[in-house]
Amino acid sequence: MSPSYDVIVLGLGGMGSAAAHHLSARGARVLGLEKFGPVHSHGSSHGGSRITRQSYFEDPAYVPLLLRAYELYEELEQATGREIATLCGGVMVGRPDSRTVAGSLLSAERWNLPHDLLDAAEIRRRFPTLSPKDDEVALYEARAGLVRPENTVAAHLQLATRRGADLHYEEPVTRWEPYRDGVRVHTPENTYTASQLVICPGAWAPRLLDDLGVPFTIERQIMYWFQPHGGTARFDPAHHPIYIWEDATGSQVYGFPAIDGPALGAKVAFFRKGTACTPETIDRTVHDHEVAAMADRMSRHIPALPGRFLKAATCMYSNTPDEHFVIARHPAHPDNVTVACGFSGHGFKFVPVVGEILADLALTGTTAHPIELFDPRRLAAAPAV
Ligand SMILES: Cc1cc2nc3c(=O)[nH]c(=O)nc-3n(C[C@H](O)[C@H](O)[C@H](O)COP(=O)(O)OP(=O)(O)OC[C@H]3O[C@@H](n4cnc5c(N)ncnc54)[C@H](O)[C@@H]3O)c2cc1C
Repeated sequence: MSPSYDVIVLGLGGMGSAAAHHLSARGARVLGLEKFGPVHSHGSSHGGSRITRQSYFEDPAYVPLLLRAYELYEELEQATGREIATLCGGVMVGRPDSRTVAGSLLSAERWNLPHDLLDAAEIRRRFPTLSPKDDEVALYEARAGLVRPENTVAAHLQLATRRGADLHYEEPVTRWEPYRDGVRVHTPENTYTASQLVICPGAWAPRLLDDLGVPFTIERQIMYWFQPHGGTARFDPAHHPIYIWEDATGSQVYGFPAIDGPALGAKVAFFRKGTACTPETIDRTVHDHEVAAMADRMSRHIPALPGRFLKAATCMYSNTPDEHFVIARHPAHPDNVTVACGFSGHGFKFVPVVGEILADLALTGTTAHPIELFDPRRLAAAPAV
């Protein structure tokens, strides 16, 4: 007979590991099924750091979720003793009318979030490594900083296991279907049944959630680590912020202080400058011309940063057309299936609160968190007539 559970979680990356934790903390009998091992680098939740911030330029609707995520970072840190979030402060730099600056200011004002507006001279004075143009300004947020993706996933998996969740690694879901009042899920090893299925497939969404009708684009993205000229002392997180920097063309780069000691330098990346790929065909080699383009761009904003190139790694974004998330009951299976995907390169900072929302949806069918923006029906292709 098939083993039976209250909830099966497909995918134990960022979102799925958080869902497994919140579900099992509420007493649900949980099975987690993951294609790879625990905390791996084949998807979207690796690379040592992710930016977190509250004055959210993407849309003020995200702010209440961020406020809750910050509370949950602390709970997670206390429950596991792992380093989850480091609030070293952050600057959103660009022209006053750039999306990065104007959008951040809109969220800060709408939600009354503490922030400072800095002109170019003030940016240079407070953060001597940064070299803005005279017409650039910054919104500074003391509560911005970074979260640790691997530690966060490991912490959620640890807590889920502690509450009795069955977490199976190297066991991919090959297919699933509605079954009696729930679902039946197949893997090469076994067939399982459950009342509820929560699908958190990351970059595998195009195939696993084809029936949502959402045109996802999976993108290859690169993270770069450079050894700054003169070493990492000036990039210490005690006094160096995270930054997102938009130039006059609208292109954004972002980066971190030197959080892993002198040998590992500091990490930078382009935001949303990816090339379309699939998880099966992604080019994992980072090429010299890509490193050169990153170094060239950073030398305009933070001349001390691109000293020696240390290493690079690839990662995938799962983009929706409007770059807003998909978090909902599955429209075709509203009683038994919940989906979380399309995080469009900005999902990690929300991981703990997404876990809470997924547990709400799977166990009660609804959530008190504001998730109207994330309804997949906004993106579904019109049915052919
Ligand atoms: C380079 C880069 C930089 C980023 N920077 C930021 C940032 O600064 N701030 C921020 O907030 N966000 C950032 N993001 C985005 C954020 O990391 C992602 O939104 C988030 O990690 C997505 O989590 P996920 O759970 O959807 O995907 P994943 O963590 O990839 O999890 C999906 C899981 O599903 C599993 N899976 C897939 N198919 C199956 C199957 N058939 N059976 C079983 N398991 C399966 C996969 O193996 C994987 O473990 C960045 C992303 C990248 C790539």
